[in-house]
Amino acid sequence: MTDFAAAARAAGFDTVAPLDPATLKFLPEVRAMCAADRCRHYGKTWSCPPACGELEEWAAKCARYSQGLLLQTIGEREDSYDIEAMMEAAERNREQTDALLRALGPTGADYLMMSAGTCTRCEKCTYPEAPCRFPELLCPSMEACGLFVSQVCTDNGVPYNYGDEKIAYTCCILF
Ligand code: SF4
Repeated sequence: MTDFAAAARAAGFDTVAPLDPATLKFLPEVRAMCAADRCRHYGKTWSCPPACGELEEWAAKCARYSQGLLLQTIGEREDSYDIEAMMEAAERNREQTDALLRALGPTGADYLMMSAGTCTRCEKCTYPEAPCRFPELLCPSMEACGLFVSQVCTDNGVPYNYGDEKIAYTCCILF
C-alpha cells in the first residue's frame, strides 16, 4: 500500500498534515476570482479555468477519496515585499509537486493532486491549440478547483499564514 505521507516527505514538503476530504467546499466565489483574471492566467493554460473543468466535476472527483494530506512549502523572506524569496519558494513548491507526482505515477496508486498555483512548466503553454506536454504532471491549483485555501487549512488545523518573514505555498493530495 502506498505511503503517501512518506512520499510527500521524500519529495521535500515542509508540512505534511492530514486533510479530511469531507472539509472541502467547492465555492463558485473562488472560481469567480479566477475569472476576474488578476493573476493573468485565466484561460491561458490547461491547469486553469475554464480548461481544468467545472466545480461540479471537481467535487465529484474529490468525493471518491476518503483521505488526504495538506502539503506546504515554506520559504523564508525578509518581509512581505521580498518577491525574490517568494518566487524561490514557489519554484521549490513546483519541484516538490513534480517530484511527488513522478514518484507516485509508477506505483499505480489512485490519487488526486491539486497544486499551489498555475502551471508554469513550459515557457509557452500549448493551450488551447495542442494537448498538454506533460499530462502526467498536470494538476490544477486548489483555487482553480474552487477551494478557499486558508479555509481548508483552518478546517484541518494547519496554519496558512506564517507571518511576514515566511511564505507558505499550499497544495494537497487525496487518496
Ligand atoms: S505542462 Fe506546459 S503545456 Fe501543460 S499546462 Fe503546463 S505550461 Fe501548459
